[in-house]
Amino acid sequence: MTEQCNAIVATAPGGPEVLQLTRVPIPVPGPGEVLVKIAAVGVNFIESYQRSGIYPVPFPFTPGAEAAGTILSLGPGVKSFDVGDRVATAEGIGCYAEYAIFPADKALPVPAGVPLDVAAALPLQGMTAHYLMNSTYHVEPGQNVLVHAGAGGVGLLLTQMLKEREARVITTVSTDEKEELSRAAGADDVLRYADFAATVRELTDGDGVDVVYDGVGKDTFDGSLASLRTRGTLVLFGGASGQVPPFDLQRLNAGGSLTVVRPKLGDYLLNAKERLWRSTSVFDAAASGHLAARIGARFPLAEAGSAHTALQGRVTTGKVILEP
Ligand code: NDP
Repeated sequence: MTEQCNAIVATAPGGPEVLQLTRVPIPVPGPGEVLVKIAAVGVNFIESYQRSGIYPVPFPFTPGAEAAGTILSLGPGVKSFDVGDRVATAEGIGCYAEYAIFPADKALPVPAGVPLDVAAALPLQGMTAHYLMNSTYHVEPGQNVLVHAGAGGVGLLLTQMLKEREARVITTVSTDEKEELSRAAGADDVLRYADFAATVRELTDGDGVDVVYDGVGKDTFDGSLASLRTRGTLVLFGGASGQVPPFDLQRLNAGGSLTVVRPKLGDYLLNAKERLWRSTSVFDAAASGHLAARIGARFPLAEAGSAHTALQGRVTTGKVILEP
């Protein structure tokens, strides 16, 4: 009989309640794959878009691209890892489960000294923060940067990495608790969302910021454009409040020759060299104490739906993880 394990399966798109704990066969690693016993799963906003049907995926669907654990078996041809190695990934398949397959070329060795729950909390949001500030727009020391949702998963990591770069970081948050966390991560100024563009101008002597990192989307987009200096860049990397509707490109001209870019992580992990650069930077910074991953909430695997409710309900800070 095929051995079975617990996994979260959604049979159709819908609300958090479609995420049901289900018995499924333990997957078998194919060529170039490894089977991993999952210690912790990173929950990411994209999974709520996939679950609800905003980003189309085939159903039945097991969400989860990010996790960390220990290799149990190797598929044919895998030479780069051994059974027992500790690995993480931001590009796994069906990681909301007790056992999951990682493509070996997308598995990241977890350095000694980094616990597996931290290893599950870092790769996706950490490599996102890395590409946003190094590759989508290269932030220089002394530049003014606005980061929305400063106490969120990406927000806390991006703020710390921007401060290491010696940029001036302004963030937005919705509560006093989040303000405290954002300041502790190094933010110079922490704002509420109301009239943030006007405050950003005051804080920058009327100039505006060089770059805005906006993962909130619909609710902040207009204010983000209004916060930019002439020839500034809006990096729209998510839509936690909803997707931004189509807009008139002429607004970029009127706003001062602005740039808007809409990047995604997969396009910044194009090959092994790029993946190694980003993952090593993030894990080394964590191992040396220069980057702290805040695990703001832990849920048992069976409560994946509650994890989505919390993330979408704006009550989480830092990283949300599932523990099988
Ligand atoms: P967060 O931990 O940042 O959670 C989202 C935060 O957005 C909330 O905590 C909340 O913070 C803020 N927010 C503002 N308005 C709303 C709203 N109406 N509903 C819910 N949240 C709101 O999530 P992540 O760090 O995982 O992701 C942040 C964004 O980055 C997401 O949009 C995600 O899709 C995107 N992303 C994009 C990637 C890419 O490569 N393009 C990769 C990874 C993430 P507050 O209460 O302080 O406002």
